[in-house]
Amino acid sequence: MSLLPQHTELDVIGAGLTVRLPGGDTVPFAHLDYAASAPCVRAAADAVEGLLPWYGSVHRGAGVRSRTSTLEYERARDIVAGFVGARPGDAVVFTRNTTDALNLLARCLPADVTTIVFDGEHHANLLPWPATLRLATPSSPDAAVEALDRALRSLRGPALLAVTGASNVTGEVWPVRRLADVAHRHGARVVVDAAQLAPHSPVDLAELGADYLALSGHKLYAPFGAGVLAGRADWLDTAAPYLRGGGASASVGDDAVTWATGPARHEGGTPNLLGAVSLAAVCAALGRADRAALHEREQSLLARLRDGLAGVPGVAEVSAFGAAQPRVGIVSLALPGGDAAEVADRLADEHGIGVRAGQFCAHPLARRLTGAAGVTGCDTATAALLRVSFGLGTTDGDIDRFVAAIGALTSGAA
Ligand code: PLP
Repeated sequence: MSLLPQHTELDVIGAGLTVRLPGGDTVPFAHLDYAASAPCVRAAADAVEGLLPWYGSVHRGAGVRSRTSTLEYERARDIVAGFVGARPGDAVVFTRNTTDALNLLARCLPADVTTIVFDGEHHANLLPWPATLRLATPSSPDAAVEALDRALRSLRGPALLAVTGASNVTGEVWPVRRLADVAHRHGARVVVDAAQLAPHSPVDLAELGADYLALSGHKLYAPFGAGVLAGRADWLDTAAPYLRGGGASASVGDDAVTWATGPARHEGGTPNLLGAVSLAAVCAALGRADRAALHEREQSLLARLRDGLAGVPGVAEVSAFGAAQPRVGIVSLALPGGDAAEVADRLADEHGIGVRAGQFCAHPLARRLTGAAGVTGCDTATAALLRVSFGLGTTDGDIDRFVAAIGALTSGAA
């Protein structure tokens, strides 16, 4: 089913999936967990299917399969470079996912770089950095800008700001451009974790003010195991290879190794051709799509969800910056009187609705938000939020069913 009729290449595969409920009824499965992994779209599946007959080894071999595979892999890199607005001289390295991309950058940092993070980050952007200055997530974008400015004033030596484009917990869009401007004024670099922003909004390195950007294919409708780190090449070109082995080495003597330059330096081993090509296919399809119309549609789903939830007592949307902050199609709910994990299970088992409960690999933020909302047990891993997230295949009906089901479950009526 298309979100918009002209977007057939962005049709979600499996939109017609049904599940059987305990009473025997069969209902459409309402997938509302896009933030964990988005479903595959037609463009990604077609790209994989189209390449399978030609599939061969990338950068290794003279046969037609190998040559085609090499060409397609490098074409995928060019397409992804265009999607993220890579500048001349920027590197575009294929990785496994965002976690891998950020760890790659962390390994490439010069030894004297301090990384500044806000503690609302996903663990993938909180934990990889060797020397970290961790700031509490402030209660407004203005306060975030001020906190960063203060931190950079007090810091000696080079710095990197690692910041999310959109929160995987609250869906809030972070003031990346403003933060980047402050960072650059102090001579610091900026990496944007675009894992949750890219599926919902164009991501352009220059517009974001980013030096680096990381994203995951499986959150961008291309679930074939590829991610990307794009950005300034200098640190990447001079760092030790991320994975040592074939492909990463230009020549190996008896005593010395000359490492490859460019993306190959960090892509040791046989690369994930189908992952890269399917990711590029989605990037190309999104590039052709009317992103403004997609945004409008997503915001109308968000408004529908919030309007519906306003009539459900005991359910509170959580946010770091406040309800007015722009957000993508991700909303987390605190259920002060209920067990979010149990509610998520019952939504699946009794209503055919897939959401996620937990702390979403963002424990410091989730702890704070559950604590502020009065959820008990907030010092432990058991204090859970309930997250609803959506995208291209989501219908008004999915949202309405969720609202009705959460209302029934939290009132104890079902
Ligand atoms: N950053 C954010 C904001 C995320 O939401 C996630 C995953 O949920 C990640 C990073 C890590 O992504 P991956 O598991 O694809 O590496």
